[in-house]
Amino acid sequence: MNYPELVRLRKELHQHPELSGQEKRTADRISRQLRAFNPDHLMENLGGFGVAAIFNPVNGNFDKTILFRAELDALPLHEVADLPHNSKNNGVMHACGHDGHMAILIGLAKKISNKPFTGKRYILLFQPSEETGRGAGQLLDDDRFSNLDIDCGYALHNLPGFRENTVFVKYGTFACASAGFEIAFKGKASHAAYPEQGVNPALTVAEFIREISHELAHFFENDSAGKYTFTFIKMGEPAFGMSPGEAKVGITVRASTDGKLREAFKLAESAVMRSEKQFDGIISLSQKEPFSAVINHQDGVDKVKKATQESGLQMEELTDPLPWSEDFGEFGKKFPVTLFGIGAGVNSSPLHSETYDFNDRLIETGVKIFEKLMDIE
Ligand SMILES: [Zn+2]
Ligand SMILES: [Zn+2]
Repeated sequence: MNYPELVRLRKELHQHPELSGQEKRTADRISRQLRAFNPDHLMENLGGFGVAAIFNPVNGNFDKTILFRAELDALPLHEVADLPHNSKNNGVMHACGHDGHMAILIGLAKKISNKPFTGKRYILLFQPSEETGRGAGQLLDDDRFSNLDIDCGYALHNLPGFRENTVFVKYGTFACASAGFEIAFKGKASHAAYPEQGVNPALTVAEFIREISHELAHFFENDSAGKYTFTFIKMGEPAFGMSPGEAKVGITVRASTDGKLREAFKLAESAVMRSEKQFDGIISLSQKEPFSAVINHQDGVDKVKKATQESGLQMEELTDPLPWSEDFGEFGKKFPVTLFGIGAGVNSSPLHSETYDFNDRLIETGVKIFEKLMDIE
């Protein structure tokens, strides 16, 4: 496939986005495309709708397995841009550029199939459910994937707001760990005329928010990448006849390492216990959508730098981790991973926004760097 064909494929994928865990059509389309490049194995329905194409060396002997990853899923967003390739799936949108990442990996499949190589085996992975942070874990739980004996993995992400086609690398944490902390308050509902017969959690919620906010702010004084924000507060209905008995609060917390995130969770646990002592009911804390930090492998970053230089591309080293999270970090529990960014342009719409569209000028850059990494590894 040449670059105009990859752009066409990217736009086609953009028109048919699917939510995490529902990427059946996308996976089928990718499998069909991969078959055209005659991989030695094509694995489907991995950890959900995951697809992996395996390319063995000409003589079949290898002592190293290198993985390249793209993502299949899209987001529950309503596209507002008026593009010829707008989403046909109302309320679902490729707003993270996974359509572009897939096109890049298909471009790499073409390169691999055209080029005889020895000593190494390549796996091109199209992972499901990246946006919910579940896909990588599901793949690692699937024996067919976890038995593959992978030596290292690479992935890229487009970076809106950063200089176009510059490669952004970082040693250590590339993208933060994050999790949703959900706090549920259970008191007792009553008629609004008899609030004394119930246990209304409003004041406890208010005090809890003040306290946890203070504690997290203090905790993150030592982690410049650490952040938190309240994402929802829910109690009662917009009516006046009932004194509600239940409430829920959501906080998204980000930290530079998984360990720091665990400490933040412990902090929330003790805040919950203290609050509960002042409350005539039950308060519980649970963790939702946890993402491991993406901790880059030093050797991998060195190789991305080399690949960038040899491709004649601009490169910049990031000083701080990106505040968002990436499910790719989860694979780091099994094999060394390296994630890098390609700038999508300083004035481009942000990731996860309704006006976002993948910058097709990044496709060639992505293919080039992955192709160089194949040789350098
Ligand atoms: Zn995303
Ligand atoms: Zn993404």
